[in-house]
Amino acid sequence: MKPFRIVNARIVTSQAIVEGDLLIDPPYIVQVGEVHNNTDLVFDAKGNYVLPGAIDLHVHFRQPGLEHKATIETESRAALRGGVTSFIDMPNTKPETTTSRAWKEKMKVARNTSWINYAFYPGVTPQNINELPNWTEHRNIPAVKAFLARSTGDLLISMDEFEKLLKLIKVPVAVHSELDSIVMENIKKYYGKFFPDIHYYVRPPEACYKATDQVIKLSEKYGKQVHILHLSTKEEVEMLRGHKPETVSIETCPQYLFFDSQDYSRLGNWIKCNPSIKQAEDKKSLLQALNSVIDTIGTDHAPHLVAEKVLPYWRSPSGIPSVELLIPLLTSLVENGIITWTRLVQLTATNPARIYKIHKRGDIAEGMYADIIVLERSPWTVKRSFHKCGWNPYFNWTLPYKIKYAFVNGSLAYREGDKSEWLSRNSMPLEFRVS
Ligand SMILES: [Zn+2]
Repeated sequence: MKPFRIVNARIVTSQAIVEGDLLIDPPYIVQVGEVHNNTDLVFDAKGNYVLPGAIDLHVHFRQPGLEHKATIETESRAALRGGVTSFIDMPNTKPETTTSRAWKEKMKVARNTSWINYAFYPGVTPQNINELPNWTEHRNIPAVKAFLARSTGDLLISMDEFEKLLKLIKVPVAVHSELDSIVMENIKKYYGKFFPDIHYYVRPPEACYKATDQVIKLSEKYGKQVHILHLSTKEEVEMLRGHKPETVSIETCPQYLFFDSQDYSRLGNWIKCNPSIKQAEDKKSLLQALNSVIDTIGTDHAPHLVAEKVLPYWRSPSGIPSVELLIPLLTSLVENGIITWTRLVQLTATNPARIYKIHKRGDIAEGMYADIIVLERSPWTVKRSFHKCGWNPYFNWTLPYKIKYAFVNGSLAYREGDKSEWLSRNSMPLEFRVS
């Protein structure tokens, strides 16, 4: 694409809201605010908010091996509707991303099919801990992923193995922080039984906060950067308020901010996810913590088929898809005064980029890649899904904003309209720790 301008914009950066224009010379942002150059091509933002595209550090795009649920192509397309212009995908695919070869294979699929910028977490197993450090210090690898409790797939390590990992690994560690021993005890205790909020009892708060307590201590002990995924309890929030080491960063997900245990009787398995959705007071605490100890909001987009989610509780898989709604959902928190526009940008773009040292992304500033979304205030009701699985748990919710345009590396990738259009695929691999 030739240089172009986005005019009449309310540009939201990590620091401020600037009224003005943007000059883009793809793939970069060249000027912000006052633009004097002329260009043939102009997008009129009509006074709407213009944000850096979201960087979702936590998705399960299911490829390879689970393509009946989702693919990188289908979900990266849907992600543009959610204002997401970069993703980092989890290793619990088939095969699992536990070798350099499997990781390279994923990178290849993404290069050929992804609509947005991409990266992939290698997964940690008891078998690969020793050799993982040999190939993960790669400029396209953000961190490794450790599961301390079982979820979809078989990736699982013990707390002792996690400690060993921290001693050996150079890159950050993203962790599913839940104690498998507590989950297993409860599976035995409740197996075969059913009541609406059973998932909360099978995966209770103590499984989370007891694990997180140990994870924080180990991160501090070894001075290793740990990104704690999907925070779900008020106990963890309080713990972190008391003490949050420099080496620890925190994610939560939309499902913990928009649902609570009262919703199980209505939504059942549709909101079954790991860790479980907790109680109203946990939700309240997490919403408040968006302005303090929580650094990022990732979707944990985890699609399963409708046919799988309608199975009885004990046979139904855990996971909620929502990447197509990330920014529209979060704009409702801005409208309700829970977070500001700049905080929204920090949580979804700037902090994800800072935590993994993503090269030239995560904000709107001169010299950054032009990953940009233009929002339109136009309340709309979720009636259909663009995920391959065809659903999300927010049907019939009315959201205040939609994504009008999404630019990826300065190319117009998506335009919303009567008939939404996906226009050009110009994604790049994310780069980390580049100086
Ligand atoms: Zn996940």
